[in-house]
Amino acid sequence: MRIEAKDKDSASSEALLKRSAPQAKRSLTKRGIMREIDVKLITEKVRDLCMEANTDLGEDVLQAFDQSMKDEESPLGVEILKELKKNARIAREEKVAICQDTGFAVVFIDLGQDVHLIGGDLKEAIFEGVRRGYQDGYLRKSICHPFTRANTGDNTPAIIHTEIVPGEKVRITVAPKGGGSENMSRVVMLTPSDGVEGIKRFVIERVRESGSNPCPPTIIGIGIGGTFEQAALLAKKSLLRPLGSKNLDPELEKLESEILTEINKLGIGPQGLGGRTTSLAVHILMMPCHIASFPLAVNIQCHAHRHKEVVI
Ligand code: SF4
Repeated sequence: MRIEAKDKDSASSEALLKRSAPQAKRSLTKRGIMREIDVKLITEKVRDLCMEANTDLGEDVLQAFDQSMKDEESPLGVEILKELKKNARIAREEKVAICQDTGFAVVFIDLGQDVHLIGGDLKEAIFEGVRRGYQDGYLRKSICHPFTRANTGDNTPAIIHTEIVPGEKVRITVAPKGGGSENMSRVVMLTPSDGVEGIKRFVIERVRESGSNPCPPTIIGIGIGGTFEQAALLAKKSLLRPLGSKNLDPELEKLESEILTEINKLGIGPQGLGGRTTSLAVHILMMPCHIASFPLAVNIQCHAHRHKEVVI
């Protein structure tokens, strides 16, 4: 048996082990030092993130409201944007939900491949975090059986997207998703000949048809390429990018800007009562697709653009 790290540098290995927190420590394994994380810590973090995300709107969203107020031509639109900002301030200060619809708990886990999870089942640990977060934070439980509509009672199950990444850290992102905006989202399999113009047509028409239903001003997440289900996931993930940040792909950045400009000519405005601020941003993620396909997903996000993350 070979214990590389211990043999090489036993003093530093011991120091590392001593410094470790009780629920996240390093242990010596056959392959050297491996970081162990007890899933109880993940439960605690998910609980806190559920409460934080539902009560504390990100600074990037507040800044986008401010910018929109400067650009908005409709006096009623400006008043609504002011009210949205006031609502967010009250929610933050009084630790109450930004919106009565506290959403489906969508949880993204970036799991470092050098992490060894101990103490139980990761999925169950996340569900328990959601249960506690929605209970302790007095957040509405919105999840039900599709046929009977019977409420599950604790806002579980959560939707969990796990990605294995290099390293020994775990990034947890909780993004509660409201029903009104999710209902307006769509996946379509375009044909390759539809091209970029086909994307623009579909997205703009989707926003026009959605009208006031997704509680504008919205953020439009677009996923292009992959497969049917991957396009939807890309669209959802694109919403996690901070508002005001640029797309790293210049072609997509241009497309985002062109689509946003067209959307804001639709006149839907804040809460659908008219104005130019229909959407605050358009975000695109793209990946290669099959030669016969051209998948496109549009995930519409409302002004309650909630997500919080932690790295452990
Ligand atoms: S769409 Fe968003 S803002 Fe509208 S009710 Fe649902 S969560 Fe609230």
